[in-house]
Amino acid sequence: MSKIQVKNFHAPETENDSDSDIDFEDLADSSVSVGYIDTNFEELDEKELELYRIQMRSPFFPSKVGGKPAWLDYSSVPMAVGAGQINDANNNKSLELQCQSCKSQLVFLLQIYAPIGGDDDKFAHEAENLDDAFHRVIFVFLCSSKGCKSRSFKVLRSQLKRENDFFSYEAPPENYDLDEFDQEFDDSKKHLANFYKNLHLKNFLNQCAVCGLSCSKKCSRCNFAFFCSQNHQVIDWTKLNHKTLCAKYSDKSVDELISEWVNDENSVLKYNEEKSSAVFPEREIIIEPEVLDLNKLRKEQERYKYDKTKIAEDLDANEGNDQDFDAIKENDYDKDFDKFKKISAHEPSQIIRYERGGKPLWVSKYQKLKESDIPKCEYCGSRRIFEFQITPQLLCYLNLEETGQLDTVDWAGLYVYTCAKSCQAAKNSYASEYIYKQDFVS
Ligand SMILES: [Zn+2]
Ligand SMILES: [Zn+2]
Ligand SMILES: [Zn+2]
Ligand SMILES: [Zn+2]
Repeated sequence: MSKIQVKNFHAPETENDSDSDIDFEDLADSSVSVGYIDTNFEELDEKELELYRIQMRSPFFPSKVGGKPAWLDYSSVPMAVGAGQINDANNNKSLELQCQSCKSQLVFLLQIYAPIGGDDDKFAHEAENLDDAFHRVIFVFLCSSKGCKSRSFKVLRSQLKRENDFFSYEAPPENYDLDEFDQEFDDSKKHLANFYKNLHLKNFLNQCAVCGLSCSKKCSRCNFAFFCSQNHQVIDWTKLNHKTLCAKYSDKSVDELISEWVNDENSVLKYNEEKSSAVFPEREIIIEPEVLDLNKLRKEQERYKYDKTKIAEDLDANEGNDQDFDAIKENDYDKDFDKFKKISAHEPSQIIRYERGGKPLWVSKYQKLKESDIPKCEYCGSRRIFEFQITPQLLCYLNLEETGQLDTVDWAGLYVYTCAKSCQAAKNSYASEYIYKQDFVS
């Protein structure tokens, strides 16, 4: 079921910042996976889109941007702000997802399905318990509220045994042959309905219809749909069509109810996609090993060095001002940005670079995080290691212009560091991990 090849560890290299030559050699034995959004999405017909949405729900273990989070541990889903005490059968601690600066509720950005302990996982021996992390998901949230002075980002890690209260032991129906589309559609829908039925019967289906955070308020008419706040109830009722759906939920058997719910959730998600600024547009992230042509990169670098020498010679010949050139060389040239551009040009639509225990590809030479500044795991005290970064390319997919957030949400890079032990703080709760934001400095 592992969708990500587990990565090799590389010892940190010493950097020589005075040297403007880009060193690509550290990539020779790296094993980065890149994540991108498949733009074929735009060509899907109605039924294919429905399957696409079904397969981005929890029991398909997606990596995705936007929509509602596809939670892993349903017994401790993070709470909406001000949701109060939640039905808490297991006495699990639920986190409240609130911006530290403006106190707004954080919005779900993306999640990566990232189990550990694959054959080439050099960190497997460090894991506290591999069996406990058969399923493992990293979630990223941010404050997107307008006018927030210092917007918060939040990373959560959740992990589960293969045998657990929420998901079937077997892998979900997926990746059928093309001519078996109808079969895949039916099987997937059934798989999702079984999943929701189980959650419903165990009282774990108490998430807001709009944002997906857990909450205690229910629609008083149907006694089935949850909402976290008046604001989200209004969105649900007016924009997401609960007004029409509500009446359908009364006097139904569990199976009928769940089957209605699966259909309705699809139309809600469809509507959400078009009309809501409460969530980002939902898109699957495809993750594949990066294929770099290092020879090509080296040749480009040689050419660049040649050009640089030539410019210097020309400046000399024309009695140009060497000082100016040196100034350009020393101050404006950003080796890190140049390297980032050259490497990401191989897969220009990449939004994720994943290499657990690898090294980040800094987008700029400014505000690089020192390894000594990465905080230790607040639960077990072990060190945190790099797991993945989110590139600025993701900003293009978030509909920021349409929702008036264009000037408020921004980054050069977001770098996620997680507990090297992937410790069991994440058992029956969502463990906070570390995220570092690098800005574009002008
Ligand atoms: Zn805020
Ligand atoms: Zn909500
Ligand atoms: Zn209702
Ligand atoms: Zn830990």
